[in-house]
Amino acid sequence: MEAMATKELLKIHEVVKYPDPVLARPGAAVTVFDEALRTLVAEMFESMYTAQGIGLAAPQISVSQRITVIDTSFKKNAKDKLVLINPEVLETRGKQVEEEGCLSLPDIREKVQRAAWVKVKAQNEHGEWFEVEGEELLARALLHEIDHLNGVLFIDRISRLKRELVLRKIKKMQKNGEW
Ligand SMILES: [Zn+2]
Repeated sequence: MEAMATKELLKIHEVVKYPDPVLARPGAAVTVFDEALRTLVAEMFESMYTAQGIGLAAPQISVSQRITVIDTSFKKNAKDKLVLINPEVLETRGKQVEEEGCLSLPDIREKVQRAAWVKVKAQNEHGEWFEVEGEELLARALLHEIDHLNGVLFIDRISRLKRELVLRKIKKMQKNGEW
């Protein structure tokens, strides 16, 4: 007989790196809001924190579904923890250009132009719709993570010349066994 776990053991998922094909595939809409989904969401937060990230999309852990978690204050403020399922951008305003990184592109940082403000609607882990507005870092995180659910990476949003330099750097790291 197995001992009952007193605390739920959450699996830490490995974050896949570019060019894993799952990152280029649009995720499927979530239609079932059950305990398995809520466990997956909890595991996504733990996997994100373990990888030192402030945002993680399900395709990054090889789950091709429209789920993302964000915590721009990295555990400092509980109210910054966001779960967005089937998110949609409703409105954007303005422009910001800041350096961006991605857990699936370690050590790569490039300036990316994004909207300065965004309004998003999404479902929570119980299937309830809500709206969230964000500016600056939160706007960037929301847009970056929603891009993942559409198979888009931040290096798809930089100039072709810069992307070629990034891809060359990745090839070199792969060759040296650093990727
Ligand atoms: Zn990313």
